[in-house]
Amino acid sequence: MGEIYQNLIGGTWRKADDASENRSPSDITDLIGMFARGGAKDVTEATDAAEIAFPAWSRSNPQVRADLLDRIAAEITRRETEIALMLAREEGKVLPEALAETRRAAHVFRFFAGETLRLKGDAVASVRPDVDVEVTREPLGIVGLITPWNFPIAIPAWKIAPALAYGNCVIFKPAEQTPGSAHLLAQIIHEAGCPAGVFNLVMGRGSVVGEAMTSDPRISGISFTGSVPVGRHLAGTCAANMKKLQMEMGGKNPMIVMDDADLQTAVSVCLNGAFYQTGQRCTASSRLIVQSGIHDAFVAEVEKQLKALKVGHALTEDMQIGPVASESQLNSNLSYVALAAEEGCEVLGGERLNRDTNGFFQAPALFLGSKNSMRSAREEIFGPCASVIRVEDFEEAVSVANDTQFGLSSGICTTNLRNAREFKRRSAAGMVMVNLPTAGVDYHVPFGGRKASSYGSREQGSYAAEFYTSVKTSYTFAG
Ligand code: ADP
Repeated sequence: MGEIYQNLIGGTWRKADDASENRSPSDITDLIGMFARGGAKDVTEATDAAEIAFPAWSRSNPQVRADLLDRIAAEITRRETEIALMLAREEGKVLPEALAETRRAAHVFRFFAGETLRLKGDAVASVRPDVDVEVTREPLGIVGLITPWNFPIAIPAWKIAPALAYGNCVIFKPAEQTPGSAHLLAQIIHEAGCPAGVFNLVMGRGSVVGEAMTSDPRISGISFTGSVPVGRHLAGTCAANMKKLQMEMGGKNPMIVMDDADLQTAVSVCLNGAFYQTGQRCTASSRLIVQSGIHDAFVAEVEKQLKALKVGHALTEDMQIGPVASESQLNSNLSYVALAAEEGCEVLGGERLNRDTNGFFQAPALFLGSKNSMRSAREEIFGPCASVIRVEDFEEAVSVANDTQFGLSSGICTTNLRNAREFKRRSAAGMVMVNLPTAGVDYHVPFGGRKASSYGSREQGSYAAEFYTSVKTSYTFAG
């Protein structure tokens, strides 16, 4: 057994009691490395270190924090090829997607470098004479950041960057499936001169490391991205421990295609939204809600282009769709393909594919003739599968789009301004796209949804300050 990639606690790389293998979903014979599997003791030590670091860091000059974030951004950019290769290798997204995600992470750090200097408060007139009222924002404290495997560098970046920018100390727990990207990011943050204990990496199981983070009373807030069941559980434990909580979870995002849509735009928006990144995005378009008049032409064109999509090893040049990220995810996807058929859909694609390497490849799947009441159209699959639901008119389309437990992203393809405007108003989602895929967002504006998709304040852009700072109201009598 070679080197074990260790946790970063209190500014040093520390051994854990256990380690786990990281293998590529494109080729399970490709062992990426052995990574520390931490326990509750490691969370306690990281929190001890963060507690020591917090007083100085929380009161540091914003320029110091801006410079640190700038250096991290520059180093991510300098090492972007290496990071993208790791991302593609361990998560399975194709190289151009991995590179785009890495660049996004650098942009996020750069954006928050500037935000350190833009944090504002209020000076308000008091209702009492000779009293001044000030409203300021202070760092929240020690924050626990728990991230999923599907964006292993971008999601950590958009939690870590604002956490550090606003003067918090961080305990970062990445997903078990993608420790390699997290470790690279931790190396960069450490080598950029982040003070000991300000940023800590604790890799390990959610049920162990994550649980320990949610129960330590010294951790003031948890920012989580992951599944609804784990989120529901965290909501309970964090409330019991009085922790501030921010969560991004699943989606079953609708994309409406109106009769008046430009056909080629609609097809490319739907293919991108539903199948790129192997459909493993919480913002993926998994319900294509198509008006009757365009339905058959749309399906014929999607089917044609779907068959031409290249599915295979994430590191092969020109590949468009990489493997499913894990065997368990692939098995879950295949069971939904079978379910859609049992529920009466005509299923196109969806079968497991054999390639030269032993990976988890799956043909993109369309569930034709789907109804919004079917389980395959209601439950998040998190794979390259999309239901096609035929509707008669705009009213029915909006009603089907909003009829879901989720509310992350939604979209409409139309050339009619009235439809576009009306849908933006009536969509019960946190993000609405017109003639654009439901997935793919800018890095400087809020990201998040409603209903079972999100909980707490928004991530990204200047809205991130809501979670990572705590408001203080000060009164001064100068009489
Ligand atoms: P996904 O389906 O994307 O893997 P999960 O919700 O299972 O979603 O995992 C997202 C993140 O939450 C991972 O880092 C995982 O380790 C972590 N996690 C899982 N269970 C718990 C838990 N009980 N407490 C805290 N974190 C957890």
